[in-house]
Amino acid sequence: MGFIPISIDQYVKVYLKSNPTFNENELRKGLQSALTNYNNGITCSCGAAIWVIGSAIAGNGCFTCITGESYPTDDYEIDSAIKKKESNKGKRHIDDMDKTKISGFFTDDGYEINVDLIPKPALCITCQNVDNPEEEILCTLTRHDQKDDENFNCFAYRKK
Ligand SMILES: [Zn+2]
Repeated sequence: MGFIPISIDQYVKVYLKSNPTFNENELRKGLQSALTNYNNGITCSCGAAIWVIGSAIAGNGCFTCITGESYPTDDYEIDSAIKKKESNKGKRHIDDMDKTKISGFFTDDGYEINVDLIPKPALCITCQNVDNPEEEILCTLTRHDQKDDENFNCFAYRKK
């Protein structure tokens, strides 16, 4: 169960092998625009994340709506789109929460951020803002945005 990750270039080769008359440029354009839609948080009409590979041909839709199957088995998905789906697994989405009890931090696409899992960069330890509760929200979001980056940059940094 689950998607098989594949790059756009690899998938284009696989697809054209079984559909040799299909126009390669059309296919690439379709994949690119589906991936862009996916990254912009555009969802299927049912609300689920779109399946980039299927959407490239069939228009924006999730795996289930496009194929009629509940779960992917031996189906491909563009690798960068899988990574994002995986990283949101198990996280609460703001739309699923009791509206009166929403607190904390959320990503742009509405997933809850677990503040405890964000590493505090060494830079923050020597910064004046680290002890300032008014700066905490901004600091947390800055750290979250860069948590997967090799180098941490902060424009609000003020040396202690
Ligand atoms: Zn759907």
